[in-house]
Amino acid sequence: MIYMDNAATTPVRYEVVEAMKPYYRYKYANPSGVYSFSKQVRKDIEKARTQLAQSIHANPEEIYITSGGTESDNWALKMVAQAHRGGHIVTSEIEHAAIRNTCSYLQQNGYQITYVKPDHNGIVRIESVRKAIRPNTCCISIMAANNEIGTVEPIDEMALLAKEYGVLFHTDAVQAYTNIPLNVSEIPIDFMSTSSHKIQGPKGIGFLYIRKGALTLPFVHGGGQENGLRSGTENVPGIVGFATAAQIATKTFQNRISYEIWLRNYMIRRVLKEIPDSILHGDMEKRLPNNMSFGFDHIEGATLLAMLDEQGICASAGSACSAKSHKSSHVLQAIGASENIMRGTLRFTISEHITKREIDYVVDCLKKDIYQLRKG
Ligand SMILES: *Cc1c(COP(=O)(O)O)cnc(C)c1O
Repeated sequence: MIYMDNAATTPVRYEVVEAMKPYYRYKYANPSGVYSFSKQVRKDIEKARTQLAQSIHANPEEIYITSGGTESDNWALKMVAQAHRGGHIVTSEIEHAAIRNTCSYLQQNGYQITYVKPDHNGIVRIESVRKAIRPNTCCISIMAANNEIGTVEPIDEMALLAKEYGVLFHTDAVQAYTNIPLNVSEIPIDFMSTSSHKIQGPKGIGFLYIRKGALTLPFVHGGGQENGLRSGTENVPGIVGFATAAQIATKTFQNRISYEIWLRNYMIRRVLKEIPDSILHGDMEKRLPNNMSFGFDHIEGATLLAMLDEQGICASAGSACSAKSHKSSHVLQAIGASENIMRGTLRFTISEHITKREIDYVVDCLKKDIYQLRKG
């Protein structure tokens, strides 16, 4: 099998599984206990929190563990909303469902939301965001990188713009985290969402970075864990696994990223050159190292996906989240793709575990399948 759907989820690294095991078998103490058995586990959590903080140049006290990207996004936006009743939020048309659906929930509850349109390359323009700001704007939320078309957004400029207007800035960095440099000591980001299972860590764990002094309101009420803001007995194996995955991803950053970019560009070149009437969605330069989203003229994406599946290839139609609903992708719509191209869009997201030989096999299959489908 050739797995090219790493934007949907990733396999857990061997070292991560090994790091997690003791917390199921031996170090199972509730971290809140008074005995030394618990104290050791508490220490391990704080070590993990420090490692996670280092991955974005934050302080450990600014890292709040959550169940993943969706919860982090919900927490950030609902916290801002709670502090600014009836306020206005600026976001983009290409956000993940975790942001989109939280925004529509807030909209139904009396908040104003502006969805800024990206340009045709999938880049949200700073000037478009500036124009959307109103006197009662309380927050700007723009993703660091898009999960469908892989575009990397200018969040450093967005964060500065937010500061200029005295507005809070949140970014959904789930796809960007450990795949592009993210440094909160240099960029005035207030809130940042991440997720473990997108970086070869376990599922059901992530963090929300909250800048010290920005704004904190509890999201889950209970026993007072996570500094009283997000209660519930800690997912210790998850936290340790996530931190291990983040550490490995940080350590391997340079080699991993340059290899993926090389491999990605090789596949993009081959596809665009050898498959007639094919396009690449999103900016070529401002793009995640592992993302390719192709539009094929006059192709039924679902059929092509099924053919690839038969050939042992896992890819995705647009995004895993839109695949279920059978609606055309809001991201492709936002960048102005035609119905025809949207229908024939496939996303391939690679990892450092993919080889050039596998890429060649996938492109050869694509060529053959598309030729056959077009011949009818
Ligand atoms: C996957 C993803 C999420 C959701 O993260 P979970 O940990 O699966 O809840 C949010 N935003 C983006 C951009 C994603 O790719």
